[in-house]
Amino acid sequence: MLEIKNLHARVGDNEILKGISLTVKPGEVHAIMGPNGSGKSTLASVLSGRDGYEVTEGTVTYNGENLLELDADVRAREGVFLAFQYPVEIPGVNNMYFLRAAVNAVRKHRGQPELDAGQFLKTVRQTLKLLDLREDLLNRAVNVGFSGGEKKRNEIFQLALLDPKLAILDETDSGLDIDALRQVSDGVNKLRSPDRAFVLITHYQRLLEYIVPDHVHVLSQGKIVMSGDKSLAAELEKSGYATLGDAA
Ligand code: ADP
Ligand code: MG
Ligand code: MG
Repeated sequence: MLEIKNLHARVGDNEILKGISLTVKPGEVHAIMGPNGSGKSTLASVLSGRDGYEVTEGTVTYNGENLLELDADVRAREGVFLAFQYPVEIPGVNNMYFLRAAVNAVRKHRGQPELDAGQFLKTVRQTLKLLDLREDLLNRAVNVGFSGGEKKRNEIFQLALLDPKLAILDETDSGLDIDALRQVSDGVNKLRSPDRAFVLITHYQRLLEYIVPDHVHVLSQGKIVMSGDKSLAAELEKSGYATLGDAA
């Protein structure tokens, strides 16, 4: 589904990613761990097609297509979902309205009929129930004044509605109290399926106690320096990142 080969990328004059290779198959959950500044968010940004990140070497293939050549909004419509470490706030735009527009853009791309307000509300209610979320986030402006936990819950809600094939979550766990963490993790677990893959980017091992990954990779100074199964995350929790030779 996703094949990253020898990916190098820079921001301005700084080379941040220095040769990343990673293969993600449908149904798999990959965790990418690593100290602050190792390039985790940069990898997420490159995969999402964010402005300002220049790929200097390597390839990224998504379902056989060159992902790097697709516009960011096309990537989203083709089933790539990206949740950023710092979700954007959109003052003046109602969350429900925003979500319906996003869902309908995806549906249109897939040749499915668009949902009117009534149909969308029905889908929304089912999804709220599935994820055990409350409706109160829907009638506010997108992410404006949301607490950290509310933003992350809203992300999982977006994820469920958009039904992507590949979901990349950057630091979904940062700043969450234990209840929010559990709710967000339960949401991800419910959304796991044989045809959907997740890439979970996290600094902490804590998230991986709730969402058990199939593969764990450790990023350090722009390279994957270790890969293993879930036990690697537990080992890192004990030894810390200091052994990698950079600040945790
Ligand atoms: P992580 O998510 O692992 O903490 P980042 O990808 O955010 O790491 O950052 C990796 C390195 O790239 C850091 O040294 C950071 O300062 C630098 N960097 C990331 N984004 C930018 C940017 N937009 N402008 C300048 N430097 C950046
Ligand atoms: Mg960081
Ligand atoms: Mg980051």
